[in-house]
Amino acid sequence: MSEPTWGRNRRFCSTLSGSDVGVAVDLAGWVQVRRDLGGLVFVELRDSSGRVQLVADPNKNKDVFEVFTSLKSEYVIAVRGEVSERPANTVNPNSPTGAIEIYPDTVSLLNTAAPLPFQLDSGQQVDESLRLKYRYLDLRRSEMHDHFVLRHKIAQAIRNYLNENSFLEIETPILTKATPEGARDFLVPSRLNPGSWYALPQSPQLFKQTLMISGFDRYYQIARCFRDEDLRADRQPEFTQVDLEMSFVDEEQIMQVTEGWLTAAFACAGIDVPRPFPRYTYKHIFERYGTDKPDMRFGMEIKDLTSVASVCQFKMFRSVADAGGKLKAICVKDGAQGISRKQTDSWQEAVKSWGGKGMAWVAFAQGGVRSSGIDKHLSEEEMSSVKDLSTAKEGDLVLLVADKDPLVTVLLGRLRLKIGEELDLIDTSKHSLLWVSEFPLFEFDPEEERLVAVHHPFTAPHSQDLGLLKSKPEQVRARAYDVVYNGVELGSGSIRIHDQNLQSEVFSIIGIDKETAKQKFGFLLDALASGAPPHGGIALGLDRIVMLLAGCKSIREVIAFPKTQSGACLMTEAPSAASPQQLSELKIKPGSEAKAAVPLQ
Ligand code: ASP
Repeated sequence: MSEPTWGRNRRFCSTLSGSDVGVAVDLAGWVQVRRDLGGLVFVELRDSSGRVQLVADPNKNKDVFEVFTSLKSEYVIAVRGEVSERPANTVNPNSPTGAIEIYPDTVSLLNTAAPLPFQLDSGQQVDESLRLKYRYLDLRRSEMHDHFVLRHKIAQAIRNYLNENSFLEIETPILTKATPEGARDFLVPSRLNPGSWYALPQSPQLFKQTLMISGFDRYYQIARCFRDEDLRADRQPEFTQVDLEMSFVDEEQIMQVTEGWLTAAFACAGIDVPRPFPRYTYKHIFERYGTDKPDMRFGMEIKDLTSVASVCQFKMFRSVADAGGKLKAICVKDGAQGISRKQTDSWQEAVKSWGGKGMAWVAFAQGGVRSSGIDKHLSEEEMSSVKDLSTAKEGDLVLLVADKDPLVTVLLGRLRLKIGEELDLIDTSKHSLLWVSEFPLFEFDPEEERLVAVHHPFTAPHSQDLGLLKSKPEQVRARAYDVVYNGVELGSGSIRIHDQNLQSEVFSIIGIDKETAKQKFGFLLDALASGAPPHGGIALGLDRIVMLLAGCKSIREVIAFPKTQSGACLMTEAPSAASPQQLSELKIKPGSEAKAAVPLQ
């Protein structure tokens, strides 16, 4: 058997078609499946591009047939042979190469494969920890390949857009100093400076601002960020952001650039989104949807009915209004008939489990009004105000919550989403991209008992609210903006403070005294005093964007080597214990570190 020159003239399986019939080709890849049928051996050959059918016939080529009979799943082979048309009755219309097949003249077995821990075709049903342990096998599945092809295309489209718009890609350090994005830092001990630690960047925030001060004007980076948080389903300790910063700009310019590259990214998944995305203020959005990341693919906006509560004799409502709370409602269109008592009971329970007092309901059914009991306590006039203010029509169901403000709005926002999902009200064919801006600059953190920055402390206050900084800081609006897709926050950014004095003032409002500010951010304060241009930027989570565009439920599906919920890499078994020698070099006393005797699951 002669050695095929498979490496040099190799064709990819998916490039073969009917027009290659009669052409001799070299192919190399993995045995997806082998089937012995009617004296012939069929092998589905898979490479990075796709699959093609190989056939061995003992009457045509005994050597090839013999090798084929020994092949098992995931063996690695190279073949050379002529492309032929399949007999009409064996054409597979579901496969892109389903009209052709190859009877190889030669075959080389390049490697064998141990029995698989799971079948590659059934990857999704396989336990995820098994998939992560054998990630190299999991990633062989064509579905996973597709995710990374899409991820690559998206990253390229973003780079192309930003390159064409005069952005420079600049790398910032991984071994750095803590940046306050509100999460815990990962620390790395410094061998050369015993007792000192680097922090892994939670974001390139301070470096990108510094680059603006250095006059680069437009920076971007597809940047790895590290945050030591308790992991939720859509979080990873290290993740990737599309991070950018621009000088001499306002909010609108950053939004326009972001819309530009984001629509280019969506186009990679065949999704065409119109620009500009609608823009809303936080106040507007929160009042209507009870969240700062509304899913606008369905209606059911929250309505304020406090005017009814504050005059009615119904104690449950009146007492809340008298205490400064609010009565709010959402209206389920055509819900008066089809919705069972069991369902409204479950919504009432949900509201309670989220910390609310409860939920009342009124069904404006054709045959007459039914309710959870409130119609007995409200006058006819008040009931008709409930109907009007909640924009209910005959046949609709109104759900009411009376509670403290803003809790009442948050509760109804959550209820709205729950009902939207339960009743299938979300139009999944829609792509709803929007901007939310003018968030509050500060919020009170009850745990720390102080004001904290809602975005981060480098965000500029709204110029109209500067006068409130000292007297009513909680009322100051931030020049910050979030971009939201189908109810998911893709990322956020802001116009930054470029004035040293203002930056120092903001630090002091959030309880960072002069000494600490100097120690932590001295370089930034000095840089701001050295002729800092007005600047602003944004960062969007790339993993999340790819996940949504690939139609996946978890970002682990679009990260090649993700970590588990407990931050472990099951394939490499990181994190792992350090050797006594490593620790002594780092001047860390053995035993003072937490030992992971058993690999973390
Ligand atoms: N650094 C911010 C973040 O990571 C984004 C920004 O303000 O540009 O969320």
